[in-house]
Amino acid sequence: MDRQQEFVLRTIEERDVRFVRMWFTDVVGSLKSVALAPAEVEDAFEEGLGFDGSSIDGLSRISESDMLLQPDPATFQILPWRGEVEPTSRMFCDILTPEGQPSNADPRQVLKRQLTEAADMGFTCYTHPEIEFYLLESSKLDAQGRPQPIDNGGYFDHVPDGVGQDFRRASVTTLEALGISVEFSHHETGPGQNEIDLRYADALQTADNIMTFRTVIKEMAMQKGIHATFMPKPFSDQPGSGMHTHFSLFEGDSNAFFEAGREYQLSDVARSFIAGILHHAPEMTAITNQFVNSYKRLWGGGEAPSYRSWGHNNRSALVRVPLYKPGKGQSARVEYRGIDSAANPYLAYATLLGAGLKGIRENYELEEPTEDDVWALSTAERRASGHVPLPGTLHDALKAMEESEFMAEVLGEQVFNSFLANKRAEWEEYRQVITPFELNKYLGIL
Ligand code: GLN
Ligand code: MG
Ligand code: MG
Ligand code: MG
Repeated sequence: MDRQQEFVLRTIEERDVRFVRMWFTDVVGSLKSVALAPAEVEDAFEEGLGFDGSSIDGLSRISESDMLLQPDPATFQILPWRGEVEPTSRMFCDILTPEGQPSNADPRQVLKRQLTEAADMGFTCYTHPEIEFYLLESSKLDAQGRPQPIDNGGYFDHVPDGVGQDFRRASVTTLEALGISVEFSHHETGPGQNEIDLRYADALQTADNIMTFRTVIKEMAMQKGIHATFMPKPFSDQPGSGMHTHFSLFEGDSNAFFEAGREYQLSDVARSFIAGILHHAPEMTAITNQFVNSYKRLWGGGEAPSYRSWGHNNRSALVRVPLYKPGKGQSARVEYRGIDSAANPYLAYATLLGAGLKGIRENYELEEPTEDDVWALSTAERRASGHVPLPGTLHDALKAMEESEFMAEVLGEQVFNSFLANKRAEWEEYRQVITPFELNKYLGIL
């Protein structure tokens, strides 16, 4: 029993905790939870908690269904919305094989492998996500069957008497009670659309935080009688919900992306990191944008990136280098704008980091930045500048992923295969549907 584990057991005792939820994540990033009686926690630390992995998407093959959950004591938190009396707590878990080895099927493990890779190269990876989502009226649809946003606000709008403000306040307070620091929260461009930006943390902690964030947002919305969604593009005529993520690599106490006096104050490490991400972007898109609906965002305008490009002050760029504030070298970072709010954060961060590290290891050459609006260029101009399009559909993205050795390596064979199987099934299901678009467009005329 180590000190962190002892601390957890003591807290459970002192706070009279009634349930300890064991949290983990399946291959598409759905949160899974099993509630444990406090008396079982010590055993779970020592031997792991057995469960049937075969019923969880992507976790294990039927023939090896017994798996173990090993709670990570560093993630112990009381869940504020369950009340003070006999409270409920949670810990994130690693998934182990019956032999006690880390499971290759565990998304958290996939990210940990890349973090070890980074550590071997001397780097710690920090990330900070800007998470966008829509708030909708619960179960109210308009005459066309579309959901209804809770307000008509726009970017940074202050909506007087709006439910949105109360909601954001409750969410930020709850997140902070869970040890998750929030930097900004504001109304986004779309009606009912909001954004909350988490303070940077190491990439594993950020991925855990995103899982917690989604749960908190759903809980808080329920409490206010509204519905929160991370669906990438709920309205065809409004912006989608992205999850721009800022990456930096630190060597000890210093930011390895910063070099004073260079273009955009970027070091060679940062340049190769960007080159790695750009090079592998099309192959990674199935992971960063994993749903049929994700491609409606990528190709539906609303400031979502559609082409491979990087730039400085450029909202059409896939990778953006935020403005340098003099004296703030430590905050040098690279923003990936492709990823959406419904991605599995463990797998998405593992692939983005993996691509960046590969760029550094293999010294990838970085193309010229662009300050052009990439959407406004002609196809020929884009081709000449190397702005290749991101995949246009989930189907195209899966094809690009399937052919990628890099993706098979970063995800490991098991996650690579189970993810592809899961997503091919989604595509097949989608392909069978006769959509309202088709009925409207063709039924009257054909
Ligand atoms: N909603 C946009 C997206 O889908 C981002 C808008 C912004 O934050 N600038 O990526
Ligand atoms: Mg933002
Ligand atoms: Mg935003
Ligand atoms: Mg941004």
